Amino acid sequence: MVEHILAACAGMGVDNCEIWADGAEMPGCDGSSLAFVEALLQAGLQDQEAPRPQFVVENVVRVGDDRAWIEARPPDHFGLSLLYGLDYGPDGAIGSQTIELAVNSDSFRCRLAPARTFLLQEEADWLRSRGLGKRVSYQDVLVFDRQGPIKNSLRFPDECVRHKALDFIGDLALAGCDFVGRFVAYRSGHRLNAELVRVLLSEQQSVQPLRKSA
Ligand SMILES: [Zn+2]
Repeated sequence: MVEHILAACAGMGVDNCEIWADGAEMPGCDGSSLAFVEALLQAGLQDQEAPRPQFVVENVVRVGDDRAWIEARPPDHFGLSLLYGLDYGPDGAIGSQTIELAVNSDSFRCRLAPARTFLLQEEADWLRSRGLGKRVSYQDVLVFDRQGPIKNSLRFPDECVRHKALDFIGDLALAGCDFVGRFVAYRSGHRLNAELVRVLLSEQQSVQPLRKSA
């Protein structure tokens, strides 16, 4: 769940902090970034003098194929904006959902941070058949059957796409810089998100130290 911590840091504009863990894995908490955002706010945020590197997207960069893709485009405002779409087909409870937002600490905290991890029942069954996640209950993670989440209720009608957007922010944070650009993603996951970061950084566009750290 390290991506949910990275998402919390990136979403709240934190690029310099120490996080200590006493286990082999980060705590999953409720499957969202909410607990980590609350911990950051409890610790307090501080402006620092060091400039933080910024990556301004200057050319359209696309990764993926027709089934799942991401495009990074030049910014339409000074900051990061995201349009994310998922599509689980017409028959299931998730269906197709989209979210669009200008990513900043307010929008991240209110719209994305509380959105939890989700799985389809088939995926949960497959994991359990391999002995994984046996201690995880339907209260710990959203497991969807065709009617909706099993023994749980949604925090937002479009909680799934909000969580995918949260994951996307966490994966972008692996680059170690702020992105200025418009990102449009369709059915992307961690692998494709990481590939986009790799391609962007390999293009060596303008990474500039512009803003102060927090
Ligand atoms: Zn996630």
